[in-house]
Amino acid sequence: MTTEGEADTRSADDRDAVASGVDFGQRTLPYGVFRAPGLAPRVGVAVGDLVLDLSRLIDSPEEFEQPSLNAFMATGHRRWQEVRAAVESRVEAGVSLGQDGVHRIADVDVLMPIEVADFVDFFSGIEHATNAGHVLRPGEDPLKPNYRHLPVGYHGRAGTVIPSGVDVVRPRGQVRAGDEVVLRESARLDFEAELGYVVGVPSTQGTPVSAERFRDHVFGVVVLVDWSARDIQAWEYQPLGPFLGKSFATTISPWVLPLDALDEAWVDGPVQEPPVLPYLRAPEPRNPSIALEIEIQGQLLSRVEAAGLYWSPAQQLAHMTRNGASLRTGDLYGTGTISSFDESAMGSLLELSWGGSRKVQLGDSGARTFLEDGDTVVLRGYVAGDRRRAFGEARATVVGAGEE
Ligand code: MN
Repeated sequence: MTTEGEADTRSADDRDAVASGVDFGQRTLPYGVFRAPGLAPRVGVAVGDLVLDLSRLIDSPEEFEQPSLNAFMATGHRRWQEVRAAVESRVEAGVSLGQDGVHRIADVDVLMPIEVADFVDFFSGIEHATNAGHVLRPGEDPLKPNYRHLPVGYHGRAGTVIPSGVDVVRPRGQVRAGDEVVLRESARLDFEAELGYVVGVPSTQGTPVSAERFRDHVFGVVVLVDWSARDIQAWEYQPLGPFLGKSFATTISPWVLPLDALDEAWVDGPVQEPPVLPYLRAPEPRNPSIALEIEIQGQLLSRVEAAGLYWSPAQQLAHMTRNGASLRTGDLYGTGTISSFDESAMGSLLELSWGGSRKVQLGDSGARTFLEDGDTVVLRGYVAGDRRRAFGEARATVVGAGEE
């Protein structure tokens, strides 16, 4: 549904995808931005299959009558807790359709939740780094010498982060084909299953943020799909890392789970050996237990678990500010692909198809090495392995690049 008098240019499938959403129940209470008929975009809280207009609950238009969560996220942990407590009281009193400021999620447009400032993507799954090393550099040590000393990452493109439900256009790019170098549509389009952390409170340039300050700065977390054109990436990445093979699109789930909703989901991280430098020592527990199910064309392809990531989001935060780089409200940083050494539980097609050398079966939808046009990829998260506790959903359909 759209604002009156405004044409909806999205396909019917896109509308369904955005509207389908996820039922988070009454406890998670994630934040998002929505547009109801006749109203400007605003911040809401998902309660079951309803959305509660925060500007009706809390009279603070400068925070909530906004097209993104950024103004609210900038206010800080004390305010986040205050607002969550107010929402919890309201939920306890009962939220139902027909009350002021309550809409059915299916009846509104759920929009991009944050204005992304900078986007960084890490490489914190040691199983993924090992698998990818074996596939891309066979015969060599799969991990580079720095891997256990620092959370490796690269700067991505903030302006191409899109919400769940928006199609991803297959990129064209320069690739090496045998002895030739050509420009063509990527033939090895892939996804990476990740979580994305969202920064609320900024920091001062020149002043590092310690791992202990993680909860003072980071507001929440989303499901993130790092779309990756492996053929473009393989040709361009040395020596400066991913560039156009990644920057064409990144999908995030539209509801941001506040860290305060996940307190009991955190678990101790894997042993880090050799010991990390003091600035990277992070308090336990280090990572949330979030399972991600990966579906293509409605077929369950894989299931991965974030609890075992080698580096934690607090360590990533400390590392990316250690040189004095500042944080801005809306900064987004990805965990890196969440994977495993079990070939039925890997977080990318690069690993599942072992570099395209084996087919991945998709039931009635045939088999894949990499993504085909028309494929709909869905990442669906659950908290602490409990399928009743939704964490969020990020989905997109791959469409062909078309004529040029
Ligand atoms: Mn990635």
